[in-house]
Amino acid sequence: MTSTYPTKRPTDAAHLEDEPDLPRELLNLPWIDIHNHAHTLSWEDRERYALAGCEGMVMVSSGYHWTPYKPVRAGDVRYLWDDAVNRRAAIERNHFFEAALGLGVHTGVRIEDPDDLIDAMDAYCELDEVVAVGETGVTPSQHVEAWDVDEQRAIVQAQMELADKHDLPVILHTPNTTTDSKRSYRPEVGVPGYEKNTALGVEPVLDGENPQLEAVKLDVQAARDAGLAEERVVASHADGNNTDYLMTETECYLSYTIGHSWLVGVDAADVADAIDEYGPDRIMVDTDCANVLRTDPFALKRAIFELYRYGIDVDDIRQVVYENPREVFGLGT
Ligand SMILES: [Zn+2]
Repeated sequence: MTSTYPTKRPTDAAHLEDEPDLPRELLNLPWIDIHNHAHTLSWEDRERYALAGCEGMVMVSSGYHWTPYKPVRAGDVRYLWDDAVNRRAAIERNHFFEAALGLGVHTGVRIEDPDDLIDAMDAYCELDEVVAVGETGVTPSQHVEAWDVDEQRAIVQAQMELADKHDLPVILHTPNTTTDSKRSYRPEVGVPGYEKNTALGVEPVLDGENPQLEAVKLDVQAARDAGLAEERVVASHADGNNTDYLMTETECYLSYTIGHSWLVGVDAADVADAIDEYGPDRIMVDTDCANVLRTDPFALKRAIFELYRYGIDVDDIRQVVYENPREVFGLGT
């Protein structure tokens, strides 16, 4: 390239010495989103995943956001699972990415007859398209009606036993510590961007100093009691409150949810910090995109570029957005 420019007077171009060596391979780097609810999104949002180079995803079907009756009954959750089973192949054919399923029992609302779900789940775990159990995990406070911690923990452990039996990983819903906002909203109006009647939240069942971390510790203990190897546990919604514990005291994978950073405060900078401190071996990134939230199907693709800007090597980026998910969830093979 010439250093003399025919511009009228010198521009930046005349002063720039070295052009940075940009990793163009990032434009086509395949990625896998191990935790989203894409079957609840619009067709256009699912297309956005495909346009941004998503090669595979785990569509998680377990959330109480989509079961209208409270408390929830086993049949309500079965309906969610069946809806996802019903539509999965058509989603895959429409968009070309591999669409796999995570089926689980979420504990954000009390379920009246959870044992019926555990009984039914065994056969679902046999399905080729089911690549994970979850999302699940002890939740410090419920919507509408509280659920005793010991009962929650028992349901979490029972799912982990099933996961172990079927050699499936478990996606944990680790509770986040919410970010400090400048001001809180009227409780009866709630948080814009999150379709939830927040005034219906009930008193927490875990009320220690750090209930969010306590919940994660109960989940890890449940995995140990279930005989499930810790490296088969993927703690989604990893954050500053649980990273140190999960990295230093367990063998679990940590997946950083970056599709609704405005809500949970976790973004690519947190992922970069974790890679710097602990290396990429047990780190993933997910979007958790869902129709009840202001979420961004492009978030993971954006994070790929952002991680590079933050100084992370291309090989490490590839490992956290593609190779780790592929290996743990058996996708892309
Ligand atoms: Zn989720």
